[in-house]
Amino acid sequence: MFEQDSLPAMKYYSVWDTKNTVPVFDLLTKNDTSFILELTGKYGKYTHPFSGVVTSNFGWRDSSMHNGIDIDLNKGDPVVAAFDGMVRIAQRAGNYGNVVIIRHWNGLETVYGHLSKIKVKPGQIVKSGEVIGLGGSTGRSTGSHLHFEVRFKGVAINPRYLISFKKEELVGEVVVLKKTKWGMSAYPLNAKMYTVEKGDTLFEIAKRFGTTTKHLRELNGVQGKYMHLRVGAQIRIE
Ligand SMILES: [Zn+2]
Repeated sequence: MFEQDSLPAMKYYSVWDTKNTVPVFDLLTKNDTSFILELTGKYGKYTHPFSGVVTSNFGWRDSSMHNGIDIDLNKGDPVVAAFDGMVRIAQRAGNYGNVVIIRHWNGLETVYGHLSKIKVKPGQIVKSGEVIGLGGSTGRSTGSHLHFEVRFKGVAINPRYLISFKKEELVGEVVVLKKTKWGMSAYPLNAKMYTVEKGDTLFEIAKRFGTTTKHLRELNGVQGKYMHLRVGAQIRIE
């Protein structure tokens, strides 16, 4: 298998930190602009960490930032690794409760919070689909659910940019990550069109693709400030 005799993705990271949930030394730098990441192929496949209803999305909520997506589950339900990788954190950590953080071979990290039981240890190599813990409600949580995050170099990315939670599959095999003033945008490589989903705003779409609402309006031949977004319609994003 790929690079399994070494630590994952050391071209992006300098330290293998098994104590801090956000690695202290390896945050995105001023000089970082964009990255192209292969999600599958030699890096294995994707498995949805838990098949359930999304109860809370990524973004601002009650004046604090929610860095992940919450999926409803019952205490004791098995939670699985999304991709192949190596366990970096497996411990109790503040609001996360019992948390597992896996660093994947391509440099992404995934976070699994509020577990009732942890089934892996730091340094352990895991495969996509392998059970890493049992669902629960430890830490700052009301009711059992999985708190799931996707990060790159310490920055949380909206998991929906990479994963369709409706289809429970990746939006693309290769993605572009771009640093923006809000954090990180992500979209499939070579994406030229985007299909409007329920709840989308032009601002949100621009954020996701690391562009501006003005640029999107120009690309789509819209004059003036207002662009109508019909659910299911395809708009140009490049
Ligand atoms: Zn959450």
